[in-house]
Amino acid sequence: MRILLCEDEPVLCDQIKRLLAAEGRVVDVANDGQEACFLGLTEPYDMIILDLGLPILDGTSVLKEWRAKNIAVPVLILTARDAWSDRVDGLDAGADDYMTKPFHLPELAARVRATLRRQAGRTSPFFEKGGVLLDTRNARVTLNGVPVDLTALEIAVLSYLFHNSGRLISRTELSEHIYSHDSDRDSNTIAVFINRLRKKLGHDLIQTMRGRGYMILTD
Ligand code: CA
Repeated sequence: MRILLCEDEPVLCDQIKRLLAAEGRVVDVANDGQEACFLGLTEPYDMIILDLGLPILDGTSVLKEWRAKNIAVPVLILTARDAWSDRVDGLDAGADDYMTKPFHLPELAARVRATLRRQAGRTSPFFEKGGVLLDTRNARVTLNGVPVDLTALEIAVLSYLFHNSGRLISRTELSEHIYSHDSDRDSNTIAVFINRLRKKLGHDLIQTMRGRGYMILTD
């Protein structure tokens, strides 16, 4: 799952990025409102974390611009502790959730998981299919209870397919959600990741729709 993090405090930004990466997320960072606005309009994110106090263009204006252009991605806003009216404005502008600074990083991680889960129509932090279990709290995967060692990109592929179970996902869509903005995207490598996942997790989990893409079937 690919997340846009809009935050201008470098230390906090770094901490959040590392935290989300440890859970198998791909994170793009925008340090000001203008860059945030542009990336949100042009890249297909699964979720956005938006600090309202951004330079150049404030977060609430950025959010209004996205919603006006029908960008429906879930947005979690970060606000100053005493700025209750900012939170009201942010929620009215189309935010899905908020956190007040300072916050505990594990709480942010939990809210991100909850948001992505809601988006996928799920209530549990686990995805399970045919003996394969993905724990989204730590990006660990087991097969029939036995831990399986997956690379970050293999986890990203598996996680995106699980979060979109029952939907046909093209190679292009997959590559847009597992690589960050600044990495070289190559949708030809997707087939390689799928093959490796099948070797590690069995051949029945991920269905191939020849020439069209991949799918994890719902039960
Ligand atoms: Ca700020």
